[in-house]
Amino acid sequence: MEVTVIGAGLAGCEAAYRIAESGHKVALIDCKPVAFSPAHKNGGFAELVCSNSLKSDEYGTAGGLLKSELRALGSLLISVAEKVRVPAGGALAVDRDLFSKLVTERIAKHPNIEVSCGTVDDYSDDELTVISTGPLTVGGLNASLARRLGTSLGFYDAAAPVIDAASIDTTKCFVASRYGKGGGDYLNCPLDKDGYYAFVKALGAAERAKQHEFDKREIFEGCMPVEIMAERGEDTLRFGPLRPVGFIDPATGKRPFAVVQLRAENAEKTMYNIVGFQTNLKFAAQREVFGMIPALKNAEFLRYGVMHRNTYIDSPRELDCFSRLRNFPKTFIAGQICGVEGYVESMASGLVAGINAVRTLEDKPLVLLPETTVIGSLYRYITAPNADFQPMNANFGILPPLSENIRDKAKRKAAYCERSIRDLAEFQKTNDLI
Ligand SMILES: Cc1cc2nc3c(=O)[nH]c(=O)nc-3n(C[C@H](O)[C@H](O)[C@H](O)COP(=O)(O)OP(=O)(O)OC[C@H]3O[C@@H](n4cnc5c(N)ncnc54)[C@H](O)[C@@H]3O)c2cc1C
Repeated sequence: MEVTVIGAGLAGCEAAYRIAESGHKVALIDCKPVAFSPAHKNGGFAELVCSNSLKSDEYGTAGGLLKSELRALGSLLISVAEKVRVPAGGALAVDRDLFSKLVTERIAKHPNIEVSCGTVDDYSDDELTVISTGPLTVGGLNASLARRLGTSLGFYDAAAPVIDAASIDTTKCFVASRYGKGGGDYLNCPLDKDGYYAFVKALGAAERAKQHEFDKREIFEGCMPVEIMAERGEDTLRFGPLRPVGFIDPATGKRPFAVVQLRAENAEKTMYNIVGFQTNLKFAAQREVFGMIPALKNAEFLRYGVMHRNTYIDSPRELDCFSRLRNFPKTFIAGQICGVEGYVESMASGLVAGINAVRTLEDKPLVLLPETTVIGSLYRYITAPNADFQPMNANFGILPPLSENIRDKAKRKAAYCERSIRDLAEFQKTNDLI
């Protein structure tokens, strides 16, 4: 076999199919149906473990653009999803059993793919391998990876929401660092006394996401959900992440009652993280309650806060932009474990790993898609230096700004899409990438 793919989930199937379709032999190994992660239930491949929605398929959305890019690159999973789609408005939702069944058939029947069942605990660094065992990797593989990397893998997401910079009301916040130290690194959103207490009350009462048994764990002080902090006392947040000391609000000339800080997520400052707001609130509740912060009234959430079990490598340190381990160039990492977040993002990274595994076999230069594509930007994001790395999903905030300033939101998003589609087509032509 020329390549071994470990894990026949969303990323692994996409990678294996791409390699096989390019004429190379693949060994695809999955622990199912002999062993299951706590979330997997059916014996087939490409199982959607939770929602049956692959999110928006509409033009002018980041999710829709990601799917267009995958279609252009010949994704197996998106083509199968289209065959088994169920009505879901602008989203691409699927009959999950049929989806898994059809993907499994396409994989199992492929003459270049040899499927086997087994829990893989270790692998060889000297053979081309794609590791795509997902956020709930079974057995000793995480430990094997961690041993090679010399660090532990992230085992838990405690992520705060990320907001589109263009949606922040800059008339209701100010640029400053606490006590003026470190320049103007933060956007600070002041709350007055009434606003603060109303916010704390709403936060404590807001609806929380139901956690799976395997997601439950002790809460550490360092990543305490903001709603739990609010429950501990009405002033807890004011003495914690919302403490106002060291700030003067230029609008009033006084220290605010409380301050919510926003920290840039990228060098271009197109996205901001709400500092200390790791949360387990339902997404609608996040929009509603965090929207009570005046500067965030119309905030557009690029990534919602989540708290769940996850496994991912420290990609900014360990992964190169071709989806290989920097120190082990024969090992590709794909799917959620490489630090992308979401079903379709996992498929996309499987495709990237597949494309680059093929190019390795064929002695061709490896490829990183243009930064103007969602896939290219995701790879740039997850592999850029980041001391506080959390997995990232598809959104327009990770794309480089447009060359012209388009104020109309719909037109701006359409321009992102046009740019990506044009650049990807050009890139495919010049790189012989069908
Ligand atoms: C509980 C949960 C719910 C989620 N819900 C959503 C959602 O609704 N929407 C969304 O966009 N994203 C969701 N995600 C995030 C993510 O998109 C999915 O986990 C997605 O399936 C990741 O794709 P993957 O290919 O990386 O891994 P998976 O699809 O999980 O595939 C991994 C495969 O590897 C196999 N495997 C594991 N360990 C081994 C081993 N040691 N040896 C051999 N085989 C192994 C597994 O059996 C599995 O088939 C969710 C994640 C979790 C954990």
